[in-house]
Amino acid sequence: MNEFAEDTISAVATAPGEGGIGIVRLSGAQSIAIASKIFKGVTGKTAHQVASYHAAYGQVIEPGTSTAVDECLLLVMRAPHSYTREDVVELQCHGGVVPLRRVLELTIESGARLAEPGEFTRRAFLNGRLDLAQAEAVIDVIRSRTDASLRMAVGHLAGALSEKIREIRHELLKLIAQLEAAIDFPEDDIEELTSAEVRAGSLSVLDKLSGMLATAKTGQILRDGLKTVIIGRPNVGKSSLLNALLREKRAIVTDIPGTTRDVIEEYVNIKGIPLKIIDTAGIRETNDLVEKIGVEKARELVNSADLILVLLDASAALTLEDQEILSMLSERPAMVLINKTDLPPQLDFAEVQSLCGNKKILKISITEGSGLLELEEEIAGMVYLGQAVQGEAGFINNVRHTEALSKAREHIEEAILTIDKAMPSDCIVIDLRSAWERLGEVTGDTMEADIIQQIFSQFCIGK
Ligand code: GDP
Repeated sequence: MNEFAEDTISAVATAPGEGGIGIVRLSGAQSIAIASKIFKGVTGKTAHQVASYHAAYGQVIEPGTSTAVDECLLLVMRAPHSYTREDVVELQCHGGVVPLRRVLELTIESGARLAEPGEFTRRAFLNGRLDLAQAEAVIDVIRSRTDASLRMAVGHLAGALSEKIREIRHELLKLIAQLEAAIDFPEDDIEELTSAEVRAGSLSVLDKLSGMLATAKTGQILRDGLKTVIIGRPNVGKSSLLNALLREKRAIVTDIPGTTRDVIEEYVNIKGIPLKIIDTAGIRETNDLVEKIGVEKARELVNSADLILVLLDASAALTLEDQEILSMLSERPAMVLINKTDLPPQLDFAEVQSLCGNKKILKISITEGSGLLELEEEIAGMVYLGQAVQGEAGFINNVRHTEALSKAREHIEEAILTIDKAMPSDCIVIDLRSAWERLGEVTGDTMEADIIQQIFSQFCIGK
């Protein structure tokens, strides 16, 4: 039960705009009663008479006048077998702005309250239908950009991450219990034996946490995209590369509303990795990123990108501008692409190599399409760092989880130090318990209410 248990909430669950179908969803004890007031089945059925997981066809009507508002399919899901574990009703109408707004208004006039952002999922969490990591995965599923990011999100939603966390917490509890037993029976030999066992157990937990944390970077990239910038002097083939990637691998395009000029985020799907190509001033329009935006801005981009693709022209000698660009790359995740290898070579490869340090250099020809598969392999290798592709379900993918796991790992390291200093068992227990609590934050087992509130407020209304 939660603080809003008596409220019945309502919201449009489908995306705004026009669509074949639009859904108004109700959740709470009054859902069926409210739906009964505004739904008239063709066979005369009311919402009360519709069995759980059955649909009835009819109309949404204005209760006072019985005027039809829209045609509708009514779907009833009774507690606890629903998304929120409360009574849930879906009114599946036509997907237009006006009919949906009117149907929503009728549910409010009939006793529902407009749902807050993420409130359906928050109720699912508070009623124990999902844990916090699973609830966060709902958003990740909705926003997933490639098949690999979807695999990860669906894995989390199914509980793959939560399961791992619970196993580790269980191991920690066993260690804590062992120590507490030793505290209660403080013969020296038992204590010594216990601390050796607890040390081994802590090391095993440490290993698991490190293994999970090692997936965090890849997980975050799969979720949020790899911020990629293509740079090079005019005419090396930047637009050609961008266009070639977009033509073959375009994943999704999102408009970012509320910006002064329309910024478009374009994602390219490279072996499941969403590459977010930064088209700041529009390299396709200006043909020259460095000239248009200036060296300083290029430097800024190079410093903020997760991946920098530098293009050079194989059919021309290296210029000062090329050298300037190459000099920005030290310590940055960059790859150097020598383009136009279909033309007679003029570029001094040895010189390029000496300027690039340890950066990967690939020879490509965008015109002929050669070297592009190798480029994809290289990018995937860089992101996955040898981790199993298809194993994404267990990857860590958000900052909140990463922080909780890192903190837990620190507490375990403290515990091991405490053991090594032969300090009293109570001190070890404190460290292990802190680690256990930190891990509980991932699943929401140990968590402050206001943080939970904050997490769900990032959802949209209707989710
Ligand atoms: P940008 O100024 O860096 O964006 O370069 P563009 O993509 O506009 O390319 C400049 C010119 O180089 C165009 O005429 C392209 O057709 C040509 N180009 C791009 N890639 C290749 C390539 O691999 N081989 C050859 N021969 N020409 C290319």
